[in-house]
Amino acid sequence: MHLDLRVNGSTKLTGLIGNPVEHTVSPVLQNSLFSVTGINGVYLPLKVPEGSLRDAVNGLKAVGFAGFNVTIPYKGAIMEYLDEINEEAKLLEAVNTVKITGDRLVGYNTDGDGFLRAFSEQTGTGFTRKSVCILGAGGTARTLAIKIALEGANKICIINRTLSSAIKLTEKINQIISGASAFAAAAGSAESMLALARCDIIINATSVGMHPDTEASPLEEGFSLRQEQIIYDVIYNPVETKLMALARRSGCIAVNGAGMLFYQGVKAFEIWNGSIIPAKKLEDISKIFLKYLQG
Ligand code: NAP
Repeated sequence: MHLDLRVNGSTKLTGLIGNPVEHTVSPVLQNSLFSVTGINGVYLPLKVPEGSLRDAVNGLKAVGFAGFNVTIPYKGAIMEYLDEINEEAKLLEAVNTVKITGDRLVGYNTDGDGFLRAFSEQTGTGFTRKSVCILGAGGTARTLAIKIALEGANKICIINRTLSSAIKLTEKINQIISGASAFAAAAGSAESMLALARCDIIINATSVGMHPDTEASPLEEGFSLRQEQIIYDVIYNPVETKLMALARRSGCIAVNGAGMLFYQGVKAFEIWNGSIIPAKKLEDISKIFLKYLQG
């Protein structure tokens, strides 16, 4: 038997607010980052019931939290309670990281940069002059589409079940990013099929195929992919979705969302702690974390 000395009166407090939070893996990542960097801190899942966001934010501020992540359904609603929102989060209309300094709350978005870093590391390429199809028009699709447009993609087709949401997103992209060329198509339409057949990169930013609905896929089983197309799925549970299995069988590079999850968390950690994690430590923890996600 031994005493657990990990938490004491000087421990830095961080966490994740959302609802639900039961299945989050962020505490595993963040507490491991505290451990490898030797920073005295802890990260907790904090379930915030509907209607309690204001109380939760005031409570975290009152007890001296250093910062927190924000997940579904509060990435937009949190903005009302912040003293400042950085340019990136304003552009993406979503905050997933809040830093508390004194009584000031500053909001950031680390999802977009986390995605770009993971995509470039895992596929060895970027989006400049590429033609990209994004499946979905929700919060994640918006973040990815805007970042991809800013990276200089040649064409972006937003394909969604609800066409009106896809149109709204393309209008925003074309309006705020000069030179962007985004267009919308309804899922399953002839226009979407043509765009999917011609593009370089297909990104699934819907929740279709996510646990427990692992038999579902945003593209049909027999969908024909070209070997040189890259398929990126934001889902990381399961580690190989139906869509990724289809891509693998077609000889394509297929990547899941675990890398994005990892790097958005790393960036949030660096915002709270004001320190950059050394590359070797990051590489080591990345390997262990990705293995952990594989179960
Ligand atoms: P969201 O805002 O609710 O958007 C969901 C999107 O999925 C919408 O476009 C919706 O279409 C579509 N969709 C949902 N069910 C569908 C169905 N049965 N058939 C066709 N389309 C369907 O959700 P979100 O926050 O963007 O999250 C999307 C996914 O990204 C989730 O799986 C989430 O776990 C994942 N994610 C991963 C990371 C990471 O770090 N890897 C980070 C954030 C999110 P409609 O508009 O027609 O409803």
